[in-house]
Amino acid sequence: MKLSEAFETFYNEKEKALKVYNCKQLENYKLTWNNRKSSFGLAYFSKPEIQLSRPLTLTHSTEHVTDTIRHEIAHVIAFFIYGDRGHGKYWKEVLLKLGNKEANRTGKAEVLLDRKWTLVYLDERNQLIKISMHSRKLKNLSSRYIKNNKKTLGRLYLVLTKDFKLYEANKLNISNINLYQD
Ligand SMILES: [Zn+2]
Repeated sequence: MKLSEAFETFYNEKEKALKVYNCKQLENYKLTWNNRKSSFGLAYFSKPEIQLSRPLTLTHSTEHVTDTIRHEIAHVIAFFIYGDRGHGKYWKEVLLKLGNKEANRTGKAEVLLDRKWTLVYLDERNQLIKISMHSRKLKNLSSRYIKNNKKTLGRLYLVLTKDFKLYEANKLNISNINLYQD
């Protein structure tokens, strides 16, 4: 998403939130940028500032960025109205009211996204089963297997997370995915 569009979205979402919540402090909040890649968004309580990662904003969809903006706005409201600092009950309640569909992906906004690789198991029917996500390539995969599941031996691969997402959405066929195993 373009930064200018993210700005616009931030102010729109803030206006919408202020219609639902009478949160004086939120009125002063502005959007600023950082260059982090390990976290997408950050809400300060000590100064009226929500920060987004410039590189992650530029490389993610409008929907994803909007979700992150609401996630951070919900932190501000949950803190100033309910004294809730983390991803607690009030934060979740606020987030759902602001329009996010799920409030349970708590790590989504803050910790994320450098997990370039997805570890998968290629099952007997040649389907990819997701095991976990990683920021670095795993080594010696050909001799590894999932604990208590020896049939995964030799059938563990890394795929690019972005490819795996397309595969999950039926937009990319397995024959067009690079499977890495070394
Ligand atoms: Zn959060």
